[in-house]
Amino acid sequence: MSADQHGFDTLAIHAGQEPDPRTGAVVPPIYQTSTYAQDAVGSPRLGYEYSRSGNPTRDALQECLAALEGGRRGLAFASGLAAEDTLLRAVCRPGDHVVIPGDAYGGTFRLFAKVAETWGLDWTAVPLDDLDAVRAAFRPGHTRLIWAETPTNPLLNIADIPALAGLAHEYDAMLVVDNTFASPYLQQPIALGADVVVHSTTKYLGGHSDVIGGALVAADDGLGDELTFYQNAMGAVGGPFDAWLTMRGIKTLGVRMDRHCDNAERIAQYLLSHRAVAEVLYPGLESHPGHETAAKQMSRFGGMVSFRLAGGAEQAIDVCNRTKLFILAESLGGVESLIEHPGQMTHLSAAGSALEVPSDLVRLSVGIETLEDLLADLDQALGAS
Ligand SMILES: *Cc1c(COP(=O)(O)O)cnc(C)c1O
Repeated sequence: MSADQHGFDTLAIHAGQEPDPRTGAVVPPIYQTSTYAQDAVGSPRLGYEYSRSGNPTRDALQECLAALEGGRRGLAFASGLAAEDTLLRAVCRPGDHVVIPGDAYGGTFRLFAKVAETWGLDWTAVPLDDLDAVRAAFRPGHTRLIWAETPTNPLLNIADIPALAGLAHEYDAMLVVDNTFASPYLQQPIALGADVVVHSTTKYLGGHSDVIGGALVAADDGLGDELTFYQNAMGAVGGPFDAWLTMRGIKTLGVRMDRHCDNAERIAQYLLSHRAVAEVLYPGLESHPGHETAAKQMSRFGGMVSFRLAGGAEQAIDVCNRTKLFILAESLGGVESLIEHPGQMTHLSAAGSALEVPSDLVRLSVGIETLEDLLADLDQALGAS
């Protein structure tokens, strides 16, 4: 099923998921097997030999991911970070350099600063919305990647994907876009010039807070082959049940994202008018510095809203402790609303570094519950503060 012939929601439900040819099962079976009977030495049926190398349930998910991102190859991993690590090993060598966002996701930052650096990969963190700073950070001949995240976690900054792609390609480097926050329903980086898309499928793609997973989608076959080799050679694949859960989530991605966006837009407006709130970070607001760029490359602005409290860190922590419907928890992108304090929770690994997040910041993953209930919960949590 090709992306030229079908709309997004059709692909989400059908790509890679034709009814099972043997039984007619409408939903792809969970092939919970490590190995496959071979007809003769060197003749595996349908090419399947061992489930690290290939598994039909994972293949179905991979085909769906490639279709949704408009890429040539989709690859599924055990987590978003496993996908990131595999990508770095495949495209970077000791002595290489990468440009990363000045406010990268904490786990991504830790992978660069604490893991990749020990095997000789150098990095520079710059605000990616400052193209002059990105250009100045380039080390021609050594910089292999611009690693972009847009919107960023948790500050919701926006990077201009076509502009960064142009810059990367000018220096024979690649543009990687972590598309976790937008999901392919709202933003398709490959069509905008990116070479690879990264996902934590744990978030909006899975969508139900019940599975950890990651993905890479390559824009071309050459890179797709290379990444496929590293996926098998490094072995960080997800299991068949994880792939099945992720596919089940993806089928409703479009309808979920629309509701996430509806609720987040209204909550951002509500927060904007609350006296306890010093600043609202949501790319859908015209006051957001990345609003125009976001409006060009995203169809809507997503379900993540961050805000800063006039009363500082103590008040931010109080609000997180007081909500009842918004569950105090890490992660994001599920149907249920979550609240967290990035400084003490998801982004603690960036504490003391240039990537430290403000201590008065609260991050919401706005779910798809009844809007009035969400507003009432925020109102009691903020009102008491
Ligand atoms: C969660 C997240 C990751 C890491 O994914 P895991 O599935 O937790 O390994 C990477 N990037 C972003 C933007 C994330 O939110």
